[in-house]
Amino acid sequence: MALVVQKYGGSSVDSTDRIRAVARRVADTRRAGHEVVVVVSAMGDTTDDLLELAGRVTAEPLARELDMLLSSGERVSNSLLAMALEDLGLRACSLSGEQAGMITTGAHGRARITEVRPRRVREELARGAVVLVAGFQGVHLPTGDVTTLGRGGSDATAVALAAALKADVCEIYTDVDGVLTADPRIVPNARRLDRLSYEEMLELAASGAKVLMSRCVEYARRNGVPLHVRSAYGGEPGTTVFGSVEEQTVEQALITGVAHDRSVAKVVVAGLPDRPGFASAVFRVLADQQIELDVVVQNVCTQPGRTDLTFTVSEQDGPAAVAALLARRGELSLRDVLYEEHVGKVSLVGAGMRAQPGVAATFCEALSSVGINIEIMCTSEIRISVLCKDFQVSDAVRALHDAFQLGGSEQAVVYAGSGR
Ligand code: ASP
Ligand code: MG
Repeated sequence: MALVVQKYGGSSVDSTDRIRAVARRVADTRRAGHEVVVVVSAMGDTTDDLLELAGRVTAEPLARELDMLLSSGERVSNSLLAMALEDLGLRACSLSGEQAGMITTGAHGRARITEVRPRRVREELARGAVVLVAGFQGVHLPTGDVTTLGRGGSDATAVALAAALKADVCEIYTDVDGVLTADPRIVPNARRLDRLSYEEMLELAASGAKVLMSRCVEYARRNGVPLHVRSAYGGEPGTTVFGSVEEQTVEQALITGVAHDRSVAKVVVAGLPDRPGFASAVFRVLADQQIELDVVVQNVCTQPGRTDLTFTVSEQDGPAAVAALLARRGELSLRDVLYEEHVGKVSLVGAGMRAQPGVAATFCEALSSVGINIEIMCTSEIRISVLCKDFQVSDAVRALHDAFQLGGSEQAVVYAGSGR
């Protein structure tokens, strides 16, 4: 008997028929003798719809109220799934994030799980119930307020629970057959990967691959939780995420996959004094606003004694970043802050690219062959990323996927989901 945590994405439960189908899958696992904890995302595009709803009431919803609103989506799907399981003759019990002991920081909309107190979950398991935990949410104890974990946060709920319960595996059920070499909505012959290391998955997720939330991968790595990404529809074997790059290099392919992210924006802090202390002051301003930076480049400026500092942030954080910097313009002695939202990031990830000459050359040739101009380029040990115009992102992904021969002989299946 094993303890299994299963997480189902929103597109896997976008109708009541689908909820009943998922219930049958959960029931099979339970009836095979395993203890099962299930985390379900909100049905279909519910979270986006709720955000739209808030936007129709006010342009600036309070973060606290937004979390109350958004957390309701996961309550709906989890309680419905509990009902469907009871209907199949199983014991089931749905819990809110708070009831399940998901303790978080107080940062509404981007809270982090600081502790899991799964007493209630254990009690229900001991009673023989399938336990359903509303994903993407928790509670901040000092205020007692409901928090949400950021988009895709149900993945984090599932992994944190798996770690706290010492589960044997955390299964992530989704609308594709596993982790693929690229988004199959853009690259039809994207290939399923059998297994990959936490590092590679982390780079893919942080580069925009939506199949797993990057924080959840980091959490899984730190706690040694094996992840198994599979389709909620077919019976495909899926993808295992476990272990480190070093353990896998034997039959490792050179390149793992291509990821993209259209939700980035570029900020240029132009004409910053080229002296110690100014870059740090810029980053402190952004840190105080809790803004996460991604690609950071400092380049020589044409004006003597000045430098340009360029970085990317999420589109969501862009306006706040610009406003915060402009508000300190005098103090930072900067000339201007430029903002560009219509950019996207395309990344090539592969543990085997280390010490492999020629990868960067092939990468750039692939992009230039489809007429794409690189705005910024940066690398890690196992990743090359570029920033380009957002309307060129799909072409860039396809060109790289082709150039590194990542495709398979079959068409990848997309079972559901709007890709939102
Ligand atoms: N429902 C939330 C979202 O759409 C959380 C999740 O699906 O994991 O981002
Ligand atoms: Mg997701």
